[in-house]
Amino acid sequence: MAEKNRKSQSDRAKSLDKSTRSILDQQLWLRILYGMALGVLAGWLLSPEGLGIWEEELAQSIGEWLALPGVIFLGLLKMVIVPLIVCSIILGIAESASMDFLKKIGIRIIPYFILTTACAITIGIVITTIIQPGSAIDQTIAQNALNSSATAGQIPGQTFDNLSIPARIGNVLPSNPMQAQLDNNMLQLVIGSILLGIALITIPPTSGKPFKDLCMSGQVLSMKIVSWAMAIAPIAVFGLIANVVIKMGLSALTSVGLYAVCVLGGLLCMLCLYLFILKVFARISPLEFLKNIREVQLLAFSTSSSAATMPFTIQAAEEKLKLRPDIARFVVPIGATINMDGTALYQGVAAIFLCQVYGIDLSLAETILLILTTVGASIGTPATPGVGLIVLATILSGIGVPVEGLALIIGVDRILDMCRTTVNVTGDITAATLMNKWIKKDDNAPSSKGF
Ligand code: ASP
Repeated sequence: MAEKNRKSQSDRAKSLDKSTRSILDQQLWLRILYGMALGVLAGWLLSPEGLGIWEEELAQSIGEWLALPGVIFLGLLKMVIVPLIVCSIILGIAESASMDFLKKIGIRIIPYFILTTACAITIGIVITTIIQPGSAIDQTIAQNALNSSATAGQIPGQTFDNLSIPARIGNVLPSNPMQAQLDNNMLQLVIGSILLGIALITIPPTSGKPFKDLCMSGQVLSMKIVSWAMAIAPIAVFGLIANVVIKMGLSALTSVGLYAVCVLGGLLCMLCLYLFILKVFARISPLEFLKNIREVQLLAFSTSSSAATMPFTIQAAEEKLKLRPDIARFVVPIGATINMDGTALYQGVAAIFLCQVYGIDLSLAETILLILTTVGASIGTPATPGVGLIVLATILSGIGVPVEGLALIIGVDRILDMCRTTVNVTGDITAATLMNKWIKKDDNAPSSKGF
């Protein structure tokens, strides 16, 4: 029986490994960078401010066709996120955890996630307040972007109910799991998966085996689909960027350049904070750490999805950083969904930037409210491309900033999404490394490698 189990785990490991390897072997990130650069060039040539030989309507419809592979790419990734996350959390808990272990790690990891997320938003707010990108922006370009009909329909509306805090807490249990899936309610799905994982370790192994096997297949199948999506990633990025430049014009994008610099600068600070934490609390050399996670970061950059990267993150944690498998398989899938420091930082920068554009002054109490809402929102944000922007709409309405302001930053969101996802994933793997250090070696810890 144990022999059979090991064989099925190693088959899964091989399938997962093949999918992720094929993604990285082709220097995908480099081709994605080429795709981005060519996308900007093609978009500029086709836009009215470029060669100027195309009718605006024709250029826009060419843009939509160019964006089609991108729409398919994002659709494929979004399609597999829920099964991938649900299966991985259930397996992560069921395969390698015991109740004692769960208690030990749970009381450390949750406060750690909340604290680093709050740090991330604070970094974003401080940088934006110092650099003031919103005050430097050309007001006519800002007005044009805000009124632009080209972006109408792209601006997400408010997606969350305005529930009170106790009602929200009571709402975390998925009374109807199908509804949670339909609503893309990640927090409910994560809580439901954790409960199922815990239930699996408390029932006799023979009763739980069919369900575990189902989760294993779900995980391998999801990764297969991710690898198909990645095959078209460079052309997808090319088309998406070209379409944005055609619709918004290059000058609208460069005008928010200072805002993008704030996000990128903040993300860099966050990366340095992780390296500092690892150096001080886990005595790990920053360079060594970066070398070991380089491929994972490139994959996160290429997919813009912490969830699609997750199996590979676990693999790197176990094989390269030599973390305990039970810790890696527990912390990484949960971190991928509830620990989004890069996203939270970006939301902090964007909110303050738009306040500056609209001339809204936030009081200290409103700034604290912004930090709290963003911490809460980042926990429930699905780990899929572009959703940080959608959740931002809710945060903006919470502090009284018109949601239409998103029109201004939508153009640069693709590249910022790639960068913030890289930081999100680095945050997950940092958390796993730190927990590995903090939780004393347990003699009974399983050492099998499922990934
Ligand atoms: N793409 C991000 C992630 O998956 C989420 C976001 O900020 O849009 O981690």
